[in-house]
Amino acid sequence: MPTAVNRQIMLVEKPAGKLTPQNFRMAEAAIPKPKVGEVLVRVLYISLDAANRAWMQGVTYREAVDQNAVMAGGTIAEVVESKVPGFFAGDLVLGDAGWQDFAVVSAEGLVKLPRTEAITHYLSVYGIAGLTAYFGLLYVGKPKSGDTVVVSAAAGSVGAFAGQIAKLKDCRVIGIAGSREKCKWLLSELGFDSAINYKEEPLFKSLKVAAPNGINVYFDNVGGDIFEACLPQMSKYGRIVCCGAVSAYDGVPPTTGPRGVPGLIVIKRLTVQGFIFTDFIAEREAALAELRSWVNAGKLQVREEIIDGLENTPDALIGLLAGENRGKRLIRVSAPKA
Ligand code: NAP
Repeated sequence: MPTAVNRQIMLVEKPAGKLTPQNFRMAEAAIPKPKVGEVLVRVLYISLDAANRAWMQGVTYREAVDQNAVMAGGTIAEVVESKVPGFFAGDLVLGDAGWQDFAVVSAEGLVKLPRTEAITHYLSVYGIAGLTAYFGLLYVGKPKSGDTVVVSAAAGSVGAFAGQIAKLKDCRVIGIAGSREKCKWLLSELGFDSAINYKEEPLFKSLKVAAPNGINVYFDNVGGDIFEACLPQMSKYGRIVCCGAVSAYDGVPPTTGPRGVPGLIVIKRLTVQGFIFTDFIAEREAALAELRSWVNAGKLQVREEIIDGLENTPDALIGLLAGENRGKRLIRVSAPKA
């Protein structure tokens, strides 16, 4: 049984504008005891997701995080003590144990993980990012060979997988990202056909050049101005995959745009569909098998940025929202036992 205290990062209050380190505080608590039906876990890795910011604002696809509560977050953890049949000390589990060293969690929200592969992949390519990209692109976007696919936040965790999967389906892929380095990476390492730096290039014009025949599938991670620039350039019967709206998560909510909704959607007979990756969770095993085959064959690159230390979690999320990350960003809280 561990003797250390439980460090916890609490959300002090709902942020009024951009997220800052002052919105969080570190607390220390006793390590909790599991009751029947619960397990005590030690957190190994925390997933940083753009949606963490949206959870602070209100109800999304999950309940909002309360002020003065431990910040929620997807985690890989190791079972320390179990009061649940079938879970044993030393098991690795995927779940939401939050931004802390230890947590008591109910077994219902836990998925056991094998120790056979890079376990961080269960927070990236075999976790929320990979499955969101896979289901969103293939089940909602339904790309056909030769289609032009545009992905926003393309160098981020979901976007980098969505663009690579579109390439595996023989599409022409245009990525939109926020720096020259990211655009270079999309082109030289991930095999995108074009990349647009939306912070430096005229987005509407650059899209016209990159997609002269229009966009068949727009995988929208950001909403706002980028959605508005893509909308009129959609081809007839195009599909817009509404995955998320990171441009609206951090800061004061936008008061304008995207303009053209619903007029252009009607004229162009567009399919605009929102989804949460869990809508397709019944297909998880089939999706994982295909993702694994691409990763093992070297056809799908997995980039993970692993930052050490629970105390660095707030800054790492603030940096992700500002566009610091390439691929999936994670926090390593502690090392798994061998
Ligand atoms: P991520 O893409 O790894 O990181 C967020 C990225 O968004 C940043 O790196 C930044 O890159 C970009 N960004 C930030 N502000 C922006 C703005 N105003 N305009 C354009 N780009 C901006 O994060 P993620 O966790 O993978 O999430 C990506 C999207 O997927 C989010 O919208 C999230 O909510 C959504 N999502 C949806 C589901 C689902 O089930 N529907 C599941 C997971 C995630 P730049 O340098 O390019 O600006």
